Amino acid sequence: MDQIKLELPSVEVMEAAFRGRDASFDGIFFAAVATTGIFCRPSCPARKPLPGNTVFYATAAEALFAGYRPCLRCKPLFSSDDPDWLRELVARVESEPRGRIKESELKSMGLDPATVRRRFKSRYGMSFQAFQRARRLASAFEAIKEGGSIDDAVFDHGYDSHSGFRDAFAKLFGEAPGKAAGSDYIRLAWIESPLGPLVAGAVDRGICLLEFTDRRMLEAQAEALRLRFRLPAAPAPHALLERLEAELAEYFSGSRREFDLPLLEPGTPFQERVWAALREIPCGETRSYGDLARALGDPGAVRAVAQANGRNRIAILVPCHRVIGSDGGLGGYGGGLWRKRRLLEIERHGH
Ligand SMILES: [Zn+2]
Repeated sequence: MDQIKLELPSVEVMEAAFRGRDASFDGIFFAAVATTGIFCRPSCPARKPLPGNTVFYATAAEALFAGYRPCLRCKPLFSSDDPDWLRELVARVESEPRGRIKESELKSMGLDPATVRRRFKSRYGMSFQAFQRARRLASAFEAIKEGGSIDDAVFDHGYDSHSGFRDAFAKLFGEAPGKAAGSDYIRLAWIESPLGPLVAGAVDRGICLLEFTDRRMLEAQAEALRLRFRLPAAPAPHALLERLEAELAEYFSGSRREFDLPLLEPGTPFQERVWAALREIPCGETRSYGDLARALGDPGAVRAVAQANGRNRIAILVPCHRVIGSDGGLGGYGGGLWRKRRLLEIERHGH
């Protein structure tokens, strides 16, 4: 899940490039269409969706991990200098996303597993095994999908939610572990908001997760949490989660500007400095990645700052949405740019 979040052009520029099939933007961003669950290159010849239905990603890997399938027409996972074996391998995963190609099979195909791992790492930012896992997750979402209408409502308007999401949530995260599974686990809650549902996680020492979600992303988030904390995660009540829900309701109604909750967000020392700096940006204001790098006393670290910003796991409370592109454009946002725009509006003007 640790994909590099590059700075993206403004959403207006990307919308225009995608609609205009502008090939000069190929490789700069990928466009995922919420209503179809498919992601494309900007130049894709297929019919374009209505404005507002598109989510933009800096890398194909991010789109993949968010649960989108690569378009069959513009084949966004390939580039012209990919070796044939890589294309064949990716095509094989595509044709059978639920399968699992083991190392022994790679060898019998005449491929060196170490070379495959290195190439996938540099090309997609993840190992071949992780690549296959991402595809399996995406296809699992197809299976639990009840139909497009619920997703459409949430994505198109952002002001709707549905109990179907809650059911999917319970299904994916499973039951609370019994005593035998160990006493410590991450308590998860599903929190409704005017910008769509959020998934929140807490341990006794603090809130450790708050991310906008949709059903496509749930399983990937569950997997990432388990890996990050090496703890099981399951839906369960917790006093911190109740306080979080109450404070968020006040925030969205415009009556709260700061949160009063312990946070637990372990990272590298650099990431932790960046996340601490994010919390210094006053509500209602924004900073560029460059501003943040200078505030940290390291003006050359713009890219590293952007990367750490993209890896923040506690949305809103660690306000990564207050960092925008140096051109004044919105930049990127894991929860979707329309949400970033709305959060900034709420903070600037109240509800
Ligand atoms: Zn396409």
